[in-house]
Amino acid sequence: MSELNLILLGPPGAGKGTQAERLQDDFQVPFISTGDMLRANVKGATELGREARNYMDAGELVPDDLIVAMVAERLQEDDAEDGFILDGFPRTIEQAHALDRQLSELSRRVTAVLLIDVPDSDLVRRLSGRRVCVKAGHNYHIEFDPPKHEGVCDQDGSKLIQRDDDKPEVIRNRLRVYHDQTEPLVDYYDEQGVLRKIDGTRDATDVHDHIRAVIATLRLEENV
Ligand code: ADP
Ligand code: ADP
Repeated sequence: MSELNLILLGPPGAGKGTQAERLQDDFQVPFISTGDMLRANVKGATELGREARNYMDAGELVPDDLIVAMVAERLQEDDAEDGFILDGFPRTIEQAHALDRQLSELSRRVTAVLLIDVPDSDLVRRLSGRRVCVKAGHNYHIEFDPPKHEGVCDQDGSKLIQRDDDKPEVIRNRLRVYHDQTEPLVDYYDEQGVLRKIDGTRDATDVHDHIRAVIATLRLEENV
């Protein structure tokens, strides 16, 4: 079976984490979220966590060198040998170059970049209603995907909280940062012929079905 090296691209709140959670059950490849990795470092008060924290709280990007080193190490682990789903990385052209370099040294390449497209007006509503569980970061939305019991994670019973960077003033900055620094990656990957666009405004199940169909097509194309 060929490798499945996938990138989920899209603005904050587009549904990348929600889809990654579902895709993990479909394909036996690890889900690698740089946001989750950074939050674990902040929680564990590691040196990286201390360096990253102020940037994250302000909705700014953590410097490329820190992120690139963190991801390079993660991709070398055995479980990523047959593929991976990257969520939240790359977020700058420099990060994309670093990933290309690392993969090509291993004679690997990006299979596809799935752009989950959602307009800013929807994103503000999604991010301000997002709630995550403290234990594993499972995602909910107070309107669109409420838990069975208010404030409690359906999957592991832990408490649901609002992320500090999901407050309105930080949301606005994150969207600005996305448009300035991350959106150029859309053209970058389009030029490489690996970009696939997904309408992220539909409900999460439709988005998931669409992504699975795209991946099935890619696999057929790779096997011809
Ligand atoms: P990202 O990882 O791209 O920042 P999330 O997956 O955390 O985005 O989704 C942001 C919020 O929007 C969450 O509260 C999630 O429950 C909700 N959400 C995700 N996908 C959809 C969808 N297709 N329709 C409506 N709400 C969604
Ligand atoms: P989102 O809901 O915006 O998809 P993430 O969980 O991916 O949020 O990221 C949260 C924060 O972590 C970002 O605002 C940023 O400060 C930092 N971060 C995550 N991934 C990266 C990255 N690839 N490069 C720089 N900073 C990152």
